[in-house]
Amino acid sequence: MNIFRRFLNLFSSDLAIDLGTANTLVYVKGKGVILSEPSVVAIDRKDNRKNSILAVGAEAKKMLGFTHGGIEAIRPMKDGVIADFEVTQSMLRHFIKRTHRHFLFKPRVIVAVPSGITQVEKNAVREAAEQAGASEVYLIEEPMAAAIGADMPVTEPAANMIVDIGGGTTEVAIISLSGIVFSKSVRIGGDKLNDAISLYIRKKYNLVIGEVTAEKVKHEIGSAYPSDQVETIEVRGLNTVSSLPMAVAVDSEEIRKSMKEHLDTIINTVKQAIERIPPELAADIVTRGIVLTGGGALLKRIKELMREETQLPIHVADNPLMTVAIGSGKALESIDILRDIAIK
Ligand code: ADP
Ligand code: MG
Repeated sequence: MNIFRRFLNLFSSDLAIDLGTANTLVYVKGKGVILSEPSVVAIDRKDNRKNSILAVGAEAKKMLGFTHGGIEAIRPMKDGVIADFEVTQSMLRHFIKRTHRHFLFKPRVIVAVPSGITQVEKNAVREAAEQAGASEVYLIEEPMAAAIGADMPVTEPAANMIVDIGGGTTEVAIISLSGIVFSKSVRIGGDKLNDAISLYIRKKYNLVIGEVTAEKVKHEIGSAYPSDQVETIEVRGLNTVSSLPMAVAVDSEEIRKSMKEHLDTIINTVKQAIERIPPELAADIVTRGIVLTGGGALLKRIKELMREETQLPIHVADNPLMTVAIGSGKALESIDILRDIAIK
């Protein structure tokens, strides 16, 4: 059987997929991460055939906020889970088609899912991947994939604490001996930070800005912790009083304050996780500290905020946007790892 399977493997390219709320990444066996695109789909609503896809990924994201009645740009994943099943499936089919080069065999697919999603939600992911062309689907938990991707010693008796700040959720987990000792997820992530920025600018300046602009403000001047250097950026949007387009300058301090409440929630979740773990593991965290990953780990000075709040060593993963895909890819390359961590 093994020789046969190995022979078949020559013709197939198995995939590991990080199906994220903000970004989807695909790792191809033997090749590495070859696709990274926003989880956005643009749909032509005028087309009589149902759900006719106009664009997927970066191209669709460019349309966010620029659409009209006939076109809709959708983010089918919300809070880490599938919000729109059909669109998620179409998106997966598109990404699988783009990365799977063999026509004879369907790929085996690993999908990383948030820990703590319900059985119904897991089944939905499994079904979406199957219907999008997978021959077999394995699910692994995102924090485990992230920890493996960040090169943490997950198989050892050690406290591997990982905090993954994604688009829709923040997942906090402590892993030891290849298992998740404790995990907690909050539905606060980069999207909520963008919303907080929009809301603040609307209230303070009577200026309505789009999701893409809010995200840009966050990336360019957003920070989690005060700094001596205050930066400013000009934002444009629609004035709610005059109903005319307008520009205002905002600074990094006010933006930081607008995000503070959500950052506090993330910090509290981390603290609660630490309180819940057994004493030996807690003791080990004092030396090993916490690894931050996910796109939110790129927020400026998040490390400083976490360090001050937890008094623990804080490390930011090398490539925060890719750790889950890289870790899932390692499981794809090694059946031993996969057998250890695949979930039902
Ligand atoms: P998901 O796994 O949920 O798809 P990602 O790990 O891909 O999420 O992270 C996406 C989030 O990271 C988005 O909310 C994005 O705005 C945020 N992000 C990306 N780069 C930065 C940055 N430089 N500063 C702050 N946030 C960032
Ligand atoms: Mg993620």
